[in-house]
Amino acid sequence: MNRTLYGNLIFELSKKGRRGYSLPQDYDRTHTTAELPEALRRKEAARLPECDELTVVRHYTNLSHNNFGVNDGFYPLGSCTMKYNPVINEEIAAMKAFAGLHPLQPVDTCQGALEVYFNLQQSLAELAGLSEFTLNPCAGAHGELTGLMVIRAYHEATSVPSASAEGQRTKVLIPDSAHGTNPASAAVCGLEVVEVKSLPDGTVDVEHLSQLLDEMGDQVAAMMMTNPNTLGIFEPRVLEITEMVHKAGGLMYYDGANLNALLGECRPGDMGFDVMHINLHKTFSTPHGGGGPGSGPVGVRKGLEQFLPTPRVIFNEEEKQFSVEVPEGALGSVGNFFGNFGVMLKAYAYILSLGRENVKNVGPLATLNANYIKERLRDDYLLPIEGLCKHEVVFDGLVDKSTGVTTMDVAKRLLDYGYHAPTIYFPLLFHESLMIEPTENESKETIDAFIDVMHKIAAEAKNDPELVKSAPHNTPIGRVDDVLAAKQPVTTYWKSIKA
Ligand SMILES: *Cc1c(COP(=O)(O)O)cnc(C)c1O
Repeated sequence: MNRTLYGNLIFELSKKGRRGYSLPQDYDRTHTTAELPEALRRKEAARLPECDELTVVRHYTNLSHNNFGVNDGFYPLGSCTMKYNPVINEEIAAMKAFAGLHPLQPVDTCQGALEVYFNLQQSLAELAGLSEFTLNPCAGAHGELTGLMVIRAYHEATSVPSASAEGQRTKVLIPDSAHGTNPASAAVCGLEVVEVKSLPDGTVDVEHLSQLLDEMGDQVAAMMMTNPNTLGIFEPRVLEITEMVHKAGGLMYYDGANLNALLGECRPGDMGFDVMHINLHKTFSTPHGGGGPGSGPVGVRKGLEQFLPTPRVIFNEEEKQFSVEVPEGALGSVGNFFGNFGVMLKAYAYILSLGRENVKNVGPLATLNANYIKERLRDDYLLPIEGLCKHEVVFDGLVDKSTGVTTMDVAKRLLDYGYHAPTIYFPLLFHESLMIEPTENESKETIDAFIDVMHKIAAEAKNDPELVKSAPHNTPIGRVDDVLAAKQPVTTYWKSIKA
């Protein structure tokens, strides 16, 4: 039986009653590149604006100068892992054999791409300690929503039909330190958010969790957790937590947007998590920002595979062929075709170029860098939580609060010195949060230079607080009025500068 990708997708789409894609009857199945059939080609040229090359080049060059990326300088954005995207990733994703593929191509003409897809599914499962991954979701939050849909489908399939409305599992427990997308995804999935308190040290208040489970255990669909949490602290009682929630009949969801600290050290599956997502565009070095493209694969433990969305790529041992599966009863597709394949290629290139041995260094190096910054800055910046952090560290503003210089001012002053600001005012647990994540990529020289500048800013705050409060001074437009910028955005930036 020759099961083509085209046939499978058409089957799935028609089964779901969604907008159908179809190729002409006489579509030449021997096409191996994205050469479009005659019937789908333009009859006349598109009406595009006329512009000389030099003007176009200047336009894009100027736009690129308005941006700041990891390739421009240190970008210590906590919680959002701005990792360097190695050039080899780009080269591989741009290879014509990959970039020229069409998602409706017959599977026998794109076995190599399917092999990469399959291998990435497997690599992620191995790194996460779970059974199977779908690569369909296109962002971290999209992965969260998908994972919660999987959890909902599981409860619907396993619950007793006679259960009363109150007996339905509609509640999701989420620690108050969680990333904002967690409660948002739960709400979008039609579930109800119940907040779990944190202790003063930032970890989950297990007594509060226990109380909530006593009150509403039989209504709990899942608990969502990030570990290390958004403060960069590893939850010491994670095993106890997963056991408690399982005992109440709920599933454990792991927000694995940033797996940096764990890579090679430990795995969510081994901690008792049932469902998780990973951001390829954070943990696995593919670029992000500006709205994408991203990739948020979702993994599940054994026994939940049938609820994952489709399509999934499988390997047929007998035929030695990769094929595309659209199993009955699964969620259906949550994204376009296979998801963002270019992003997957970059992530897979990153995993392969590190290899099994070096992947194990990612967590320890990211952790070492964050702790080095923590120890060297704690004389000037207030460290609210003692002890080891993982891949990121949170300060609560300057130690010396008498000058009135805030975290916002420090962040703005960093721009003058050519650094991207860290994450500020998140997590919400402290008033002046300043969250720094150096990643494992940065050299000691880069980190030392950053530390020197942070000390310099602390000294400026003491000696000349106005200088810091009115920063930045070296950027084209100075300090932005955030409220005005939101109310009256100036979208013609270059015109406004020149005027
Ligand atoms: C970035 C992030 C997300 C969301 O990922 P997106 O790709 O931006 O949707 C979710 N959780 C955590 C902890 C994150 O850092």
